[in-house]
Amino acid sequence: MGRLSGKRAIVTGAGSGIGRASALLFAQEGASVVAVDRVEDAVDETAAMIRKAGGKVLSVAADVSDEAAVNGFVDHCIKEFGGLDVVYANAGISGGMVPLQEQTVAYWQEILAVNLIGPFLAIKAASPHMIKQGKGSIICTASVAGLRANAGGTPYSASKAGVISLVQTVANELYGTGVRVNAICPGLIETGMTKPIFDGARARGTDDKIGQLNPLKRYGLPPEIAQAALFLASDDASYVNGQAIAVDGGLSSTHPFAGRR
Ligand code: NAP
Repeated sequence: MGRLSGKRAIVTGAGSGIGRASALLFAQEGASVVAVDRVEDAVDETAAMIRKAGGKVLSVAADVSDEAAVNGFVDHCIKEFGGLDVVYANAGISGGMVPLQEQTVAYWQEILAVNLIGPFLAIKAASPHMIKQGKGSIICTASVAGLRANAGGTPYSASKAGVISLVQTVANELYGTGVRVNAICPGLIETGMTKPIFDGARARGTDDKIGQLNPLKRYGLPPEIAQAALFLASDDASYVNGQAIAVDGGLSSTHPFAGRR
């Protein structure tokens, strides 16, 4: 028996990085997975990997910031798999690093639409079904950038702080329903999003410096975040609610400290 046996799960951003690793792990642990990403080829590739490993999956190309599309993939999961137990609203964009005076309203709106309104829409669409069954787990990917500065651009960081507030407030709005809502705050993870950082450091020959700020003295890999998502998705986390859990090698545990060896 897998830890998600019999559960129906949606994972967004499943065409790459943390979302792909989570979709693979959820399926490996027995969930029927709806894998969502905006690029069809990418999410189809994830679905093919899951099928090859013997898992059950449907792939959907959709924009998580489009309410009709979100309602569509939630309905698709319920229709095809007979219900919905887990939503991992993980898709996100970084927006890069743009100097404050060059940031436009459109730039902010694009990042907030995907990173913050996307999780809101997933929660809005999924929660009525979960409330009806008296149970469900919603997980959102926030970031250490939502905890404090210097882990991303300004709108990115604000969007992730918003995600932390979203899970805290919605967990309470869903008081008494049995639906749990939590966030994961990853540290630096090697994915499509952070590829430019890794590529740049490797090209400069400074890749041994990546991830040295946390006490584990290394960067993280997508399956390490997927394991946290698996825990929150499963009944093992039956009493975990309204939390933002950092999975960051200890990065967010420390004040700035110059005395590293
Ligand atoms: P990734 O490899 O780029 O994966 C994110 C996926 O989401 C991509 O396939 C992306 O497609 C997709 N996506 C973007 N906008 C979308 C939209 N509107 N609708 C549907 N799918 C969309 O990056 P990742 O690092 O795994 O990111 C997953 C989550 O982790 C994000 O929320 C990110 O902010 C968060 N996070 C990452 C790190 C890190 O160090 N990697 C740290 C903290 C938090 P495109 O490639 O086409 O954009």
